[in-house]
Amino acid sequence: MHGKCMGINRDGGACSGQARPGRSMCAWHDPQLAAERAGWRQKGGQRRSNKARTAKRLPSEVMTMSELQGVLCVVLRDVIDGKTEPGIGNCAAGLGRAIAAVAQVAEIEDRLAALESAANLGTGRRA
Ligand SMILES: [Zn+2]
Repeated sequence: MHGKCMGINRDGGACSGQARPGRSMCAWHDPQLAAERAGWRQKGGQRRSNKARTAKRLPSEVMTMSELQGVLCVVLRDVIDGKTEPGIGNCAAGLGRAIAAVAQVAEIEDRLAALESAANLGTGRRA
């Protein structure tokens, strides 16, 4: 069992992150991971530029999270009504979970980038 992170954000508020298993702080606050974080930030910067390049190739009709939620609700109703095979419902549920997990990571990266630029932590990757 692990609870909320005991860390304090740069704005002085309590961190809303999950503490790492067996630790009292999340991966972004745990002093044990200070060295790793520097590497993650660098990789994050590389990923963000990869993300920007990839975004240009994506079709414009990518689903938002609420559209995905709507589609999954329709699939659920169709499975219950017998209009859709349960296997298709399971597949949609699995893909929906994967999409939500990726979206969560992307959101954390975006929030981190915003925090870093607000705190002027951009050292090391100024172009
Ligand atoms: Zn934290």
